[in-house]
Amino acid sequence: MRREFAATLARVTAGRGVEKEDVVMLLTAQPGEEEEALYRQADAFRSRYVGEEVHLRGVIEFSNHCRRRCRYCGLRADNNRLDRYRMTPEEILASARRGVELGYKTIVLQSGEDPWYTADILAETVAAIKELGVAVTLCVGERPREDYELWRRAGADRYLLKHETANPKLYARLHPDMSWEKRLACLRWLKELGYQVGSGNMVGLPGQTLEDLAADILLLRELEVEMAGIGPFIPHPNTPLGDHPAGSLDLTYRVLAVTRLVVPWAHLPATTAVGTLSPNGRQMALRRGANVVMPNLTPGKYRPNYQIYPGKICINEEPDDCRHCLEGMIRSLGRVVARHPGHGLRRSPPTKNWKPRIRVEVSKLLQS
Ligand code: SAH
Repeated sequence: MRREFAATLARVTAGRGVEKEDVVMLLTAQPGEEEEALYRQADAFRSRYVGEEVHLRGVIEFSNHCRRRCRYCGLRADNNRLDRYRMTPEEILASARRGVELGYKTIVLQSGEDPWYTADILAETVAAIKELGVAVTLCVGERPREDYELWRRAGADRYLLKHETANPKLYARLHPDMSWEKRLACLRWLKELGYQVGSGNMVGLPGQTLEDLAADILLLRELEVEMAGIGPFIPHPNTPLGDHPAGSLDLTYRVLAVTRLVVPWAHLPATTAVGTLSPNGRQMALRRGANVVMPNLTPGKYRPNYQIYPGKICINEEPDDCRHCLEGMIRSLGRVVARHPGHGLRRSPPTKNWKPRIRVEVSKLLQS
């Protein structure tokens, strides 16, 4: 093991400061001793901060219509080779009921950015699901602050809006007509409104560097997110990035593990994208820092069309299949399925003198 790597890992896990170069160093963990040491520490932090419970968040992908043109995503408006669908509020509610019957304590409503669902329609849907006694997470992209406010009043507990990349230039290249500042403004509103906020990023985006990934991890900490979704970029053939290679699975695990060390209180899902690149990807992620799995509740007839990237797992299954498969996976790892909603557990981070380089930039945005 490189002496510098060992020293950095010891310093970070002892809570003696995390500078950007420390995060970069940890991300360069070499296969063998270094990766093993990193993963051992990430698993120990996971156990210490969020315990042995794995939270199941049932996801309903209720619409694949999208007004955006994100260059990596198969749902982008320009992809005319996709059958578009919308679930009615009644269908969404029926899927949520199924989720509750399957024992899920959180229902996640996810879609492309689809204005067909007015603020009122979604507010009523959220309120109806809240009647079932579960936590509700929304993941429907950028909307006016008033919409976020209305949904919060309707009972929504959490909001998931990935920052996708903390490099504003790369963000601009990937997202025509969108801005990184706007993304951050939305995250700020969500926090002000009292949501438990989730963000996150992709790993292996074209042109992305280890410094960019370190900035992603430090941004998650800066934002004090309750949750962070981290998954590999997977090229979709009907997008402008279709010819680029997928993100490295090993690098994704390293980003996940380092995130657990730097943002120890966060809920970190073993993402579907990781499971798509490797059959035991989610198990590996659960042993390297993750503590959440997001089973699919979307009715089987719609699943193949929620194709944000190709090869997505479980598209030939129905909600009940996912429940049993995941319970087995979690038990086989010696972990337990949580029986409560698993709300955010933000605790004071272990580092006392942590001063990220980007603090000024982000806190300015957070105030503006
Ligand atoms: N419209 C919502 C939901 C987006 S889809 C929103 O803006 O929040 C959920 C996530 O899928 C995105 O945040 C993105 O990180 C991920 N995603 C999209 N295309 C992808 C691809 N080709 N490879 C990997 N992840 C992708």
